[in-house]
Amino acid sequence: MNLIRVGMATHLRRNFDYSLPAQTQLPAVGSRVSVPFGNRQMTAIVLSHPTQSTVAADKLRPIHHIIDTQALLPHSLHQLLIWAADYYHYNLGDVYLQALPKLLRQGSPASPVPIDAWQITDKGQARLIELSQSAKAPKQRQALALFDDSQQPQPHSLFSAAKISRATLKTLEKQGWIRTQVIHPQSQNWQADVHLAQTPLTLNRQQAVAVAAINQNVQQFAPYLLEGITGSGKTEVYLQILEPILKAGRQALILVPEIGLTPQTIARFKQRFELPMVVLHSGLNDRQRLDAWLAARNGDAAIIIGTRSALFTPMQAPGIIIIDEEHDSSFKQQDTFRYHARDVALMRAKLEQIPVVMGTATPALETLHNALTGRYQHLELTERAGNAALAKYELIDIRHQPLQAGLSPQLLAAVQQTLRQGQQVMLFLNRRGYAPALLCHECGGVVECDRCERFYTLHQAPPHLACHHCGKQRPIPVQCQHCGSTNLVTTGVGTEQLESQLKTLFADYSIARIDRDSTRRKGSLDTMLQSISDNRHQILIGTQMLAKGHHFPNVTLVAIVDIDHALFSSDFRASERLAQLFIQVAGRAGRAGKAGKVLLQTHHPEHELLQDLVNNGYGHFARFALAERQATELPPFSYHALLRFEATALEKLQQLAQPLETLAKQSNPGSCWVFPMTESPIPKRAGKYRQQQLLQAPNRRQLHQLVSILIDWLEQSSQAKQVRWSVDIDPIDM
Ligand code: ADP
Ligand code: ZN
Ligand code: ZN
Repeated sequence: MNLIRVGMATHLRRNFDYSLPAQTQLPAVGSRVSVPFGNRQMTAIVLSHPTQSTVAADKLRPIHHIIDTQALLPHSLHQLLIWAADYYHYNLGDVYLQALPKLLRQGSPASPVPIDAWQITDKGQARLIELSQSAKAPKQRQALALFDDSQQPQPHSLFSAAKISRATLKTLEKQGWIRTQVIHPQSQNWQADVHLAQTPLTLNRQQAVAVAAINQNVQQFAPYLLEGITGSGKTEVYLQILEPILKAGRQALILVPEIGLTPQTIARFKQRFELPMVVLHSGLNDRQRLDAWLAARNGDAAIIIGTRSALFTPMQAPGIIIIDEEHDSSFKQQDTFRYHARDVALMRAKLEQIPVVMGTATPALETLHNALTGRYQHLELTERAGNAALAKYELIDIRHQPLQAGLSPQLLAAVQQTLRQGQQVMLFLNRRGYAPALLCHECGGVVECDRCERFYTLHQAPPHLACHHCGKQRPIPVQCQHCGSTNLVTTGVGTEQLESQLKTLFADYSIARIDRDSTRRKGSLDTMLQSISDNRHQILIGTQMLAKGHHFPNVTLVAIVDIDHALFSSDFRASERLAQLFIQVAGRAGRAGKAGKVLLQTHHPEHELLQDLVNNGYGHFARFALAERQATELPPFSYHALLRFEATALEKLQQLAQPLETLAKQSNPGSCWVFPMTESPIPKRAGKYRQQQLLQAPNRRQLHQLVSILIDWLEQSSQAKQVRWSVDIDPIDM
């Protein structure tokens, strides 16, 4: 009897064996089969052909049918998924199926849909000649005239665009004048003619050094950190390193943090190359997503741009991977399969023997460490490209200052002056909504989400309270639930409030607010970004959405309204994140030859971190922060694994803590530190209690060994039955 072992998205952390009905050909490893599972049918991936099964022969079920005649993914990608499942301690079946477009997960064929078409017959040709000499049947004549002389099939869309109905075409078909056909989408063969549609810029010296370094060695694995300050011309470097790679007929995969936020970058790739390019974004429907995936796999797409999950797009002739804004936390998936796209991209590049370029103004400390220790080649761009000068930084001490909408007199004056000069102002406030809390002026009671035990955020447009942790919404109460007073007041300022107050203060100017609330509607972000570029708004207010990568040449003043809450966090990564945000926001100022200014309001102007950033920049801060991490043995000088637990009752978590910690200490292979179970940073969310256990080790292998032991125990222990648990390798928030 022939056996296959398959992976499935079952959330059971194991693989399954099936038998093959007699006379069935053995399906290839990496191909899909449809199998019975319980009383359902599931799509599964063939992982191996075992010679015997641990399941008794009479219990083995036969597969339903084979879906693919060959492996879906190239061998290197198959290997990558096996590595990722192992490294992140996640079920291979889930990893594999998550990496595929939804339609493939559901069992659709891995081929483009043939296009519905019509073809004219000889009889039809004769009819057309006949009709063209008379005024009869104008609709028929119009339809037949759409065929060209070559008698090639024409897509149905050509006729529907000309308002010719299917019924009319059916009549023609009945007469024998046309017949139905299908067209199979053609390969585009772009490789034959790669030319530049736009003259490249003349590189400055540092850019030229970077391009030359990367291009001299494109046939093998080589990781690069391109550390370039904001506006130093990193995108131009990407464009120029792509040229010889594309000319050699190889494909490029470009990962970006968020597609909606980078339309300008995507446009630059389009304009430079005019090559088939697929952009994988959330606006695609399932069919479009599959078609884009197939185009990449078949080699029809020269350039593939996408966010995190695009990392798993197969390429027929992989040439390079570029990770733009490599420090961005969106590259880490924060639920289910918690992989880091940057780290997996490095392994992919290694398996495919291609270069990988990580670009950023503010490298993650892990990446910087790898560059400083020589594991990655370090390329630096320290000057702004073109004629743009670096912006000047200034701290504003807001202690004892009267604030209007959270803005000090000094900041208001600077805004006024910039607007008078006809330039744009960007105000950055990382808090959406009207106010972060609603409280009772009589008793001080705060209105809280009972499922998370956190303050509700007050929104005014439309008026409601929203919990930013679980998404729960409710009407704004008129009375305090503790004392009954109707004297409820807001505290703190969010972007909505900033907008409404500035509207009164600067009534002559137009304001654009960019945050998740104002851009919820599809396309609204694009429209807003465009009208900012067109100078139709003079004051821009935004959360960190506004900080990422935009190039608005007319913005000369950038102000960070409130940075203080981020200065005193318990997360050891908080200062790194704050520094990155600060530099990225500041990078929006003065990008096109106009002098830019960055103002930072704070109650702690003497704070070391702020002083370091303002006076010495990110590079200095980061190297100092690395020394600190080394002294305290934190990542990247050690490795972390975090076990997360969630339960509806706190006791369930408490019962688990002791046995788990004991086991971890007993099974410690030597160098691991086992921390006690603690509350998660958000200890309760949507009615569930949350705790976590941190494991740390200077040695990766030992850490993973310990994690495996704990997972085995969690899978079997009765204490863990009513607890949801998950494993986070290299966690970035904790
Ligand atoms: P980054 O990606 O590093 O923020 P960009 O690639 O967006 O920087 O470049 C910033 C600006 O400088 C863009 O308008 C770009 O066209 C321009 N630029 C880049 N390189 C050069 C160059 N070598 N000469 C002139 N202008 C350049
Ligand atoms: Zn009260
Ligand atoms: Zn909540």
